[in-house]
Amino acid sequence: GKYTGMVEDCCCDYQTVDTLNAEVLHPILQELVTTPFFRYFKMKLWCDCPFWPDDGMCSLRDCSVCECPENEFPEPFKKPSRNGASSDDFKCQMEKQEAFVDRTLDIKAFKGWVENDNPWTSDDETDNAEMTYVNLQLNPERYTGYTGPLARRIWDAVYDENCPNYFSSGICHEKKVLYKLISGLHSSISVHIASDYLLDETNNLWGHNLEILHERVLRHPERVKNLYFTFLFVLRAVTKAADYLDQAEYDTYNPAEDIKTKILVKRLLYNPKLQSACPLPFDEAKLWQGQSGPELKQEIQKRFHNISAIIDCVGCEKCRLWGKLQVLGMGTALKILFSVDGSNDINQSLQLQRNEVIALGNLLNRLSESVKFVHEMSPAVEKMAKER
Ligand code: FAD
Repeated sequence: GKYTGMVEDCCCDYQTVDTLNAEVLHPILQELVTTPFFRYFKMKLWCDCPFWPDDGMCSLRDCSVCECPENEFPEPFKKPSRNGASSDDFKCQMEKQEAFVDRTLDIKAFKGWVENDNPWTSDDETDNAEMTYVNLQLNPERYTGYTGPLARRIWDAVYDENCPNYFSSGICHEKKVLYKLISGLHSSISVHIASDYLLDETNNLWGHNLEILHERVLRHPERVKNLYFTFLFVLRAVTKAADYLDQAEYDTYNPAEDIKTKILVKRLLYNPKLQSACPLPFDEAKLWQGQSGPELKQEIQKRFHNISAIIDCVGCEKCRLWGKLQVLGMGTALKILFSVDGSNDINQSLQLQRNEVIALGNLLNRLSESVKFVHEMSPAVEKMAKER
């Protein structure tokens, strides 16, 4: 294939990553994200965009993450309504599967988990008002029709926040890691759009769109490289926090399922194949060393924090759901790798929220899916491009 040699800043080559992903990581992650612990993400569906007030809620067909009528839930779980606005403001598509939001989880969810804030992200993670649980399995990341200048404006702002004039000046060398993470995530989102695309609107036919895969991702080798880089970065964070994640509380009052979750988590964290093929997917110790290290870290943290706020302005609800989730997942990876100072045993001092762990697991799964899809589709896309 086109990608040979080592993934940047990593210890293993592209082929090893592909094999490891296909045989080990992808199967485990696919099952893990279906467990009750990992499939509900807590999120504020209404969002206040601090930047562009005109970019309102999405009215596009496949965009909405719908809440269910209040009467489905017992009294104590009802949310107070916001500024007098009722949930009628959202058109509830009950006939659609994704309409299901299980709010009974509210009272159960926090057993054994801390509530603290993530310094890398803009949300107050301890603010439970107006939060709902979204069943991620019923709201897949896919093509939504969110496009044009509004979507473009968000990406532009994200890249601009990361490093203005990145391309023209090259002055932001040390911020390259953050750029690669954002670009890798962007690639992954594009790959999911391409893999689950509305091909024929009249017949509601969904499928692969290899043209989009080529145009947006494969045609730009650095975007593919950034995807692999991001995958390994997040994988490193997960394995670095292995002991913490292993001892965490995965109880959802569903004993059979919860045992499965714990087994899968263990299988992922202490995987002999992973440990022998790619023991250190990313070496964070090499980063931000030297005198300016601490300031640089703070600056990167501030920038990532701002990027997280920009995502609030994504005007398509389902896109925002996955945008918020993946940015929180990334913020959690950054927190694991960089927020805990100089200790060899970060698992002692680390504190993660339940929602952060859910985001981290789902982000890793998304990246794993993207890597797999890119690897599998590359030959067909190259053939298609040549024949033109
Ligand atoms: P865009 O993807 O909008 O890219 C804009 C520009 O960024 C490109 O022209 C290029 O210069 C640069 N660029 C593109 N990719 C990369 C990369 N990997 N690395 C570096 N630079 C790059 N749409 C959906 O259908 N479903 C979703 O779930 C969805 N989620 C989204 C989540 C977020 C947070 C955002 C901001 C947008 C989301 N969108 C989603 C919209 C989608 O990402 C695109 O913006 C949209 O499809 C229009 O694509 P485009 O071809 O104009 O290029």
